[in-house]
Amino acid sequence: LAAREARPSGTVVQVGNVRIGGPEPVIIAGPCTVESREQMLRAAEAVRAAGAVMLRGGAFKPRTSPYSFQGLGEEGLRLLAEAGAATGMPVVSEVMEPDQVELVAEYADVLQIGSRNMANFPLLKRVARVNRPVLLKRGFAATIEEWLLSAEYILAGGNDRVILCERGIRSFDPSTRFTLDLNAVPLIRQLSHLPIIVDPSHGTGRRDLVASMALAGIAAGAHGLIIEAVPDPDDALCDGPQSITPDTLASIAARARAIHSAL
Ligand code: PEP
Ligand code: MN
Repeated sequence: LAAREARPSGTVVQVGNVRIGGPEPVIIAGPCTVESREQMLRAAEAVRAAGAVMLRGGAFKPRTSPYSFQGLGEEGLRLLAEAGAATGMPVVSEVMEPDQVELVAEYADVLQIGSRNMANFPLLKRVARVNRPVLLKRGFAATIEEWLLSAEYILAGGNDRVILCERGIRSFDPSTRFTLDLNAVPLIRQLSHLPIIVDPSHGTGRRDLVASMALAGIAAGAHGLIIEAVPDPDDALCDGPQSITPDTLASIAARARAIHSAL
Protein backbone atom coordinates (compact mmCIF):
# COMPACT_ATOMS: atom_id res chain seq x y z
CA LEU A 1 0.00 0.00 0.00
CA ALA A 2 2.92 2.35 0.63
CA ALA A 3 4.49 1.60 -2.76
CA ARG A 4 4.61 4.30 -5.41
CA GLU A 5 2.62 2.09 -7.81
CA ALA A 6 -0.34 2.16 -5.42
CA ARG A 7 -0.81 5.87 -6.14
CA PRO A 8 1.59 7.05 -8.86
CA SER A 9 0.47 10.68 -8.64
CA GLY A 10 1.56 10.92 -4.99
CA THR A 11 -0.39 11.49 -1.79
CA VAL A 12 -1.25 14.89 -0.39
CA VAL A 13 -2.03 14.84 3.33
CA GLN A 14 -4.34 17.70 4.22
CA VAL A 15 -4.33 19.04 7.78
CA GLY A 16 -6.66 22.01 8.18
CA ASN A 17 -5.61 24.29 5.34
CA VAL A 18 -2.08 22.84 5.19
CA ARG A 19 -1.28 20.43 2.36
CA ILE A 20 1.75 18.18 2.84
CA GLY A 21 2.90 16.62 -0.41
CA GLY A 22 1.41 19.40 -2.52
CA PRO A 23 3.25 21.93 -4.66
CA GLU A 24 4.45 24.14 -1.76
CA PRO A 25 7.07 23.05 0.78
CA VAL A 26 5.58 23.08 4.28
CA ILE A 27 7.36 24.34 7.39
CA ILE A 28 6.47 22.88 10.78
CA ALA A 29 8.23 24.56 13.71
CA GLY A 30 8.10 25.19 17.43
CA PRO A 31 9.81 24.05 20.58
CA CYS A 32 11.08 20.54 21.17
CA THR A 33 8.98 20.41 24.33
CA VAL A 34 6.01 22.34 25.68
CA GLU A 35 7.27 24.02 28.87
CA SER A 36 4.69 26.65 29.83
CA ARG A 37 1.75 28.65 28.49
CA GLU A 38 3.87 31.75 28.00
CA GLN A 39 6.71 29.87 26.27
CA MET A 40 4.28 28.12 23.94
CA LEU A 41 2.30 31.23 22.95
CA ARG A 42 5.45 33.27 22.33
CA ALA A 43 7.06 30.49 20.31
CA ALA A 44 3.90 29.96 18.25
CA GLU A 45 3.62 33.64 17.34
CA ALA A 46 7.32 33.84 16.50
CA VAL A 47 7.44 30.78 14.25
CA ARG A 48 4.19 31.75 12.57
CA ALA A 49 5.66 35.16 11.72
CA ALA A 50 8.79 33.42 10.43
CA GLY A 51 6.82 31.32 7.92
CA ALA A 52 5.74 28.19 9.76
CA VAL A 53 2.28 26.85 8.91
CA MET A 54 2.09 24.08 11.52
CA LEU A 55 3.18 24.06 15.16
CA ARG A 56 5.18 21.35 16.92
CA GLY A 57 5.60 20.69 20.64
CA GLY A 58 6.19 17.54 22.67
CA ALA A 59 4.12 16.78 25.75
CA PHE A 60 5.13 13.14 26.23
CA LYS A 61 8.89 13.08 25.67
CA PRO A 62 11.05 10.02 24.92
CA ARG A 63 14.07 11.20 26.95
CA THR A 64 17.22 9.12 26.92
CA SER A 65 17.65 9.57 30.66
CA PRO A 66 14.79 8.91 33.09
CA TYR A 67 16.05 11.88 35.13
CA SER A 68 15.56 14.38 32.26
CA PHE A 69 12.37 16.47 32.03
CA GLN A 70 9.71 14.11 30.70
CA GLY A 71 7.22 16.70 29.43
CA LEU A 72 4.02 18.18 30.84
CA GLY A 73 1.74 15.38 29.63
CA GLU A 74 -1.92 16.27 29.09
CA GLU A 75 -1.38 19.84 30.33
CA GLY A 76 1.30 20.23 27.62
CA LEU A 77 -1.15 19.03 24.97
CA ARG A 78 -3.71 21.55 26.18
CA LEU A 79 -1.17 24.41 25.98
CA LEU A 80 -0.03 23.30 22.53
CA ALA A 81 -3.60 23.20 21.24
CA GLU A 82 -4.29 26.63 22.75
CA ALA A 83 -1.20 28.12 21.05
CA GLY A 84 -2.16 26.50 17.75
CA ALA A 85 -5.68 27.90 17.95
CA ALA A 86 -4.39 31.36 18.92
CA THR A 87 -2.14 31.50 15.85
CA GLY A 88 -4.30 29.57 13.38
CA MET A 89 -1.92 26.64 13.00
CA PRO A 90 -2.65 22.91 13.25
CA VAL A 91 -0.44 21.15 15.81
CA VAL A 92 1.65 17.98 15.90
CA SER A 93 2.73 16.12 19.04
CA GLU A 94 4.31 12.78 19.83
CA VAL A 95 2.43 9.78 21.17
CA MET A 96 4.53 7.08 22.83
CA GLU A 97 2.05 4.48 24.07
CA PRO A 98 -0.92 2.71 22.51
CA ASP A 99 -3.11 3.68 25.45
CA GLN A 100 -2.27 7.39 24.99
CA VAL A 101 -3.40 7.54 21.37
CA GLU A 102 -6.97 8.69 22.01
CA LEU A 103 -5.81 11.31 24.51
CA VAL A 104 -3.18 12.82 22.19
CA ALA A 105 -5.68 12.73 19.31
CA GLU A 106 -8.10 14.85 21.35
CA TYR A 107 -5.60 17.74 21.25
CA ALA A 108 -3.26 17.17 18.31
CA ASP A 109 -4.16 17.49 14.63
CA VAL A 110 -1.27 15.18 13.67
CA LEU A 111 0.13 12.31 15.75
CA GLN A 112 3.91 11.97 15.74
CA ILE A 113 5.54 8.57 16.07
CA GLY A 114 9.08 9.20 17.27
CA SER A 115 12.25 7.59 16.02
CA ARG A 116 12.45 5.34 19.08
CA ASN A 117 8.95 3.99 18.43
CA MET A 118 9.05 3.49 14.67
CA ALA A 119 8.93 -0.26 15.17
CA ASN A 120 6.50 -0.26 18.09
CA PHE A 121 3.95 -2.34 16.21
CA PRO A 122 1.14 -2.20 18.80
CA LEU A 123 1.45 1.62 18.67
CA LEU A 124 1.38 1.63 14.86
CA LYS A 125 -1.75 -0.55 14.87
CA ARG A 126 -3.42 1.80 17.31
CA VAL A 127 -2.71 5.01 15.36
CA ALA A 128 -4.01 3.22 12.28
CA ARG A 129 -7.46 3.20 13.88
CA VAL A 130 -7.67 6.86 14.83
CA ASN A 131 -8.91 9.62 12.55
CA ARG A 132 -5.70 11.68 12.52
CA PRO A 133 -2.77 11.93 10.10
CA VAL A 134 0.44 10.34 11.38
CA LEU A 135 3.96 11.80 11.13
CA LEU A 136 6.14 8.69 11.10
CA LYS A 137 9.77 9.39 11.93
CA ARG A 138 12.44 7.02 10.74
CA GLY A 139 14.05 4.88 13.43
CA PHE A 140 17.64 6.04 13.77
CA ALA A 141 18.87 2.52 13.05
CA ALA A 142 16.12 1.52 10.63
CA THR A 143 16.58 0.70 6.97
CA ILE A 144 14.38 2.34 4.35
CA GLU A 145 12.55 -0.96 3.91
CA GLU A 146 11.85 -1.32 7.64
CA TRP A 147 10.57 2.27 7.73
CA LEU A 148 8.24 1.70 4.79
CA LEU A 149 6.97 -1.50 6.40
CA SER A 150 6.15 0.51 9.52
CA ALA A 151 4.17 2.91 7.31
CA GLU A 152 2.52 -0.16 5.81
CA TYR A 153 1.23 -1.15 9.27
CA ILE A 154 -0.60 2.17 9.51
CA LEU A 155 -1.96 2.05 5.96
CA ALA A 156 -3.01 -1.60 6.28
CA GLY A 157 -4.75 -0.80 9.55
CA GLY A 158 -7.02 1.69 7.79
CA ASN A 159 -5.29 5.08 8.03
CA ASP A 160 -3.99 6.33 4.69
CA ARG A 161 -2.76 9.70 5.95
CA VAL A 162 0.92 9.03 6.67
CA ILE A 163 3.74 11.57 6.39
CA LEU A 164 7.28 10.18 6.48
CA CYS A 165 10.05 12.11 8.25
CA GLU A 166 13.79 11.55 7.81
CA ARG A 167 15.40 12.63 11.09
CA GLY A 168 18.93 11.25 10.91
CA ILE A 169 20.51 7.86 11.48
CA ARG A 170 23.22 6.82 13.88
CA SER A 171 26.72 6.90 12.46
CA PHE A 172 30.21 6.48 13.93
CA ASP A 173 31.01 10.19 14.06
CA PRO A 174 30.37 12.06 17.31
CA SER A 175 30.81 15.47 15.57
CA THR A 176 27.05 15.51 15.04
CA ARG A 177 24.23 13.99 17.09
CA PHE A 178 22.90 11.94 14.15
CA THR A 179 23.64 11.92 10.41
CA LEU A 180 20.82 13.28 8.29
CA ASP A 181 20.40 10.67 5.56
CA LEU A 182 19.40 12.74 2.56
CA ASN A 183 19.68 9.68 0.31
CA ALA A 184 16.39 8.75 1.88
CA VAL A 185 14.53 11.67 0.30
CA PRO A 186 14.85 10.84 -3.42
CA LEU A 187 14.74 7.12 -2.57
CA ILE A 188 11.43 7.45 -0.73
CA ARG A 189 10.05 9.55 -3.57
CA GLN A 190 10.88 6.71 -5.98
CA LEU A 191 9.64 3.92 -3.76
CA SER A 192 6.53 5.45 -2.18
CA HIS A 193 3.68 7.85 -2.89
CA LEU A 194 3.73 9.14 0.70
CA PRO A 195 4.95 12.68 1.39
CA ILE A 196 8.40 12.96 2.95
CA ILE A 197 9.70 15.75 5.16
CA VAL A 198 13.10 16.32 6.77
CA ASP A 199 14.06 17.13 10.38
CA PRO A 200 17.43 18.91 10.29
CA SER A 201 17.27 19.63 14.04
CA HIS A 202 17.56 16.05 15.29
CA GLY A 203 19.44 15.11 12.11
CA THR A 204 22.38 17.31 13.13
CA GLY A 205 21.92 18.16 16.81
CA ARG A 206 23.70 21.43 16.05
CA ARG A 207 22.10 24.83 15.53
CA ASP A 208 24.93 25.94 13.21
CA LEU A 209 24.17 23.13 10.75
CA VAL A 210 20.37 23.30 10.71
CA ALA A 211 19.90 25.89 7.93
CA SER A 212 22.27 24.18 5.48
CA MET A 213 20.75 20.76 6.01
CA ALA A 214 17.19 22.11 5.85
CA LEU A 215 17.90 23.66 2.47
CA ALA A 216 19.71 20.52 1.30
CA GLY A 217 16.61 18.54 2.24
CA ILE A 218 14.41 20.78 0.09
CA ALA A 219 16.93 20.54 -2.77
CA ALA A 220 16.77 16.74 -2.44
CA GLY A 221 13.00 16.86 -2.97
CA ALA A 222 11.48 16.95 0.52
CA HIS A 223 7.87 18.16 0.78
CA GLY A 224 8.63 20.07 3.95
CA LEU A 225 10.67 20.58 7.09
CA ILE A 226 10.11 20.10 10.80
CA ILE A 227 12.42 22.37 12.78
CA GLU A 228 12.91 23.15 16.46
CA ALA A 229 12.75 26.94 16.74
CA VAL A 230 12.04 29.20 19.74
CA PRO A 231 12.76 32.83 20.69
CA ASP A 232 15.33 31.85 23.38
CA PRO A 233 16.97 28.57 22.33
CA ASP A 234 19.57 28.71 25.11
CA ASP A 235 16.84 28.58 27.75
CA ALA A 236 15.11 25.48 26.31
CA LEU A 237 14.66 22.57 28.73
CA CYS A 238 15.16 20.11 25.88
CA ASP A 239 17.24 20.24 22.69
CA GLY A 240 18.34 23.87 23.06
CA PRO A 241 21.69 23.24 21.30
CA GLN A 242 19.87 22.28 18.10
CA SER A 243 17.08 24.87 18.36
CA ILE A 244 17.27 27.92 16.12
CA THR A 245 15.88 31.44 16.46
CA PRO A 246 12.86 32.73 14.56
CA ASP A 247 15.19 34.95 12.48
CA THR A 248 17.10 31.91 11.24
CA LEU A 249 13.80 30.16 10.57
CA ALA A 250 12.58 33.10 8.48
CA SER A 251 15.76 33.00 6.43
CA ILE A 252 15.37 29.22 5.90
CA ALA A 253 11.74 29.68 4.84
CA ALA A 254 12.61 32.31 2.22
CA ARG A 255 15.51 30.33 0.78
CA ALA A 256 13.54 27.05 0.85
CA ARG A 257 10.85 28.63 -1.32
CA ALA A 258 13.47 29.89 -3.77
CA ILE A 259 15.21 26.51 -4.00
CA HIS A 260 11.92 24.68 -4.35
CA SER A 261 10.72 26.87 -7.18
CA ALA A 262 14.02 26.30 -9.01
CA LEU A 263 13.62 22.48 -8.92
C1 PEP B 1 11.21 15.22 18.63
O1 PEP B 1 10.71 15.49 17.53
O2 PEP B 1 11.29 16.03 19.57
C2 PEP B 1 11.85 13.90 18.80
C3 PEP B 1 12.01 13.36 20.01
O3 PEP B 1 12.26 13.37 17.64
P1 PEP B 1 12.90 11.93 17.33
O4 PEP B 1 11.87 10.92 17.68
O5 PEP B 1 13.20 12.03 15.87
O6 PEP B 1 14.15 11.81 18.17
MN1 MN C 1 13.66 17.39 20.22
